[in-house]
Amino acid sequence: MIRSAADIAFSWSVRRQEMWNFCRRSCFLHYYGARGGHDADAVPELRNLHEMRSLLSESGYLRRLIGSELRAAFYAPHESEDPEFPAGFPHLSGAVMSRFHREFHRMLHGEFRRDHAAPMLETLYYSDSAGSGAVRERLERELRQALDALESGVWPILASVRFLHRRAIDSPLEVTIPGGVHCYVVPLLAFQEKGVLSFVESSGTDTTALLLRFHAMNVLHIPPNRVRTFELIPEKGVLRESGIELNAARTLREIQAGAAEMLNAVRPSGEVCLDDFPPRREACSGCRFRAFCRQL
Ligand code: SF4
Repeated sequence: MIRSAADIAFSWSVRRQEMWNFCRRSCFLHYYGARGGHDADAVPELRNLHEMRSLLSESGYLRRLIGSELRAAFYAPHESEDPEFPAGFPHLSGAVMSRFHREFHRMLHGEFRRDHAAPMLETLYYSDSAGSGAVRERLERELRQALDALESGVWPILASVRFLHRRAIDSPLEVTIPGGVHCYVVPLLAFQEKGVLSFVESSGTDTTALLLRFHAMNVLHIPPNRVRTFELIPEKGVLRESGIELNAARTLREIQAGAAEMLNAVRPSGEVCLDDFPPRREACSGCRFRAFCRQL
């Protein structure tokens, strides 16, 4: 399998680096091999590969679901309520649980096969439908625990931030670092109080803390010492401050080195070849691509 690197813009992200470290072949399949498979008219092999690319782990799905509803609830009142003085705060549970039930129903009815943007769990994809009841129960239980923790923890604090102080932020957000590498981060929300800009995100890494500071400095003209970053840990209902001991120079070098190593896998001809991305067989049992890789 060979792709042209020129057709696929390179960008660095925490997720891509994790995938690269997990198994280089999975990185190839995700970023190059499955390219074009979102198209319903793509050849079946490519469609299958793209299906696997889109699968979500249970924990990844729960974080995405909660993060997305929390973000929507944080920003939505701008449209309908007084911009300065919110009255009470919206509850997350109803929105999250009804979306979960809707999406789970669609997963069982195969909507994902037609539309790969619809969420699908790896555990459902790889097991028969008889096991779906246990998956649903497990996810429901974990969701309720997380929502209880959030609603008695950090959510009322976030919801009490005045609308005036909430800052719209793209997610995903593109950030270009020195050396010209394009990177992506996925902030959930941002607010600015007493001159300090705070980002809430879900990776908790120094790399994300650094990239958000770059964005604040280069785009919003806010110096790094006026920026704070927080990781949302939904299952505990808390925010954990990240980047407290950030070594900016070292973290920047880590991103640049990771990106350079990935770009090195492109042949001088501009081709990207599956054979240049070694499999890591000991990781296969927990990998989304295992059905595809088994055939190789
Ligand atoms: S199935 Fe194994 S070799 Fe293939 S991408 Fe996944 S971890 Fe790598």
